[in-house]
Amino acid sequence: KLSNRLQMIADRVPAGSRLADIGSDHALLPTYLAQQGIILFAVAGEVNPGPFEAATRQVLESGLSKKISVRSGDGLAVIEAGEVEVITIAGMGGSLMASILEAGKHKLQGVTHLILQPNVGEDYVRRWLLEQGWKLESETILEEDGKIYEILTASAVPDEEKAQLEALYAERILSGGIKVTKERLLQMGPYLISQAPEVWFTKWGNELNKLAMIVDQLGRSSAEASKVKAEQVRQEMKEIKEVLACLQ
Ligand code: SAM
Repeated sequence: KLSNRLQMIADRVPAGSRLADIGSDHALLPTYLAQQGIILFAVAGEVNPGPFEAATRQVLESGLSKKISVRSGDGLAVIEAGEVEVITIAGMGGSLMASILEAGKHKLQGVTHLILQPNVGEDYVRRWLLEQGWKLESETILEEDGKIYEILTASAVPDEEKAQLEALYAERILSGGIKVTKERLLQMGPYLISQAPEVWFTKWGNELNKLAMIVDQLGRSSAEASKVKAEQVRQEMKEIKEVLACLQ
């Protein structure tokens, strides 16, 4: 049985697709999808030897060697252009995820869906999708074992529609009169801000606590740069609190 997090990712994979799961670790996601008959074929990519061996073993033991190809390599280097329609990348930082996508851009031809679950730094992922002309289709947030995860799905759009993608991040005024900038939408999620689920408030409460600790640490230094930085973080906290207060 998959964890709730992996199950929610699995639920977003269109039936009948060919999948690449990058950073697959034990290949749990492609194994489940192949066993359920949801995917036709999968590549399980891993850059590290330990997880690569774990994936190889898992696929062998499940008798799925014909359906899942376990490959060793960095990011999208493990796939050929046109080999898969869906890419999942889960359980790593958003900045690493964006750099994997950027480095493997030339492999994305023919890919129709990206399903991404960054552990932190979701804004890097949203920004990369926007700048590279991928449509953010949905955002989900869930809590499992005391951790909060976001799952972002994106689809490829024809060139002539790429100019419209910015609209999702157009500045908004909330009902309380608070302005939400493009930067804030990239950070907090354009759909999540609209839906404002309970877990999302918990996540931003946690983020505010982390920022408060940073301000506290900066306050122990008398350097001018620390004071400036502390003021910036305080301002950031104030703005996030204003947004949350409008939505509560
Ligand atoms: N995707 C699985 C999940 O969500 O449960 C495993 C997540 S695990 C925490 C992250 C995996 O990504 C590790 O096994 C790591 O070796 C792999 N990884 C990190 N950087 C990678 C890269 N550049 N290319 C491929 N795999 C990578």
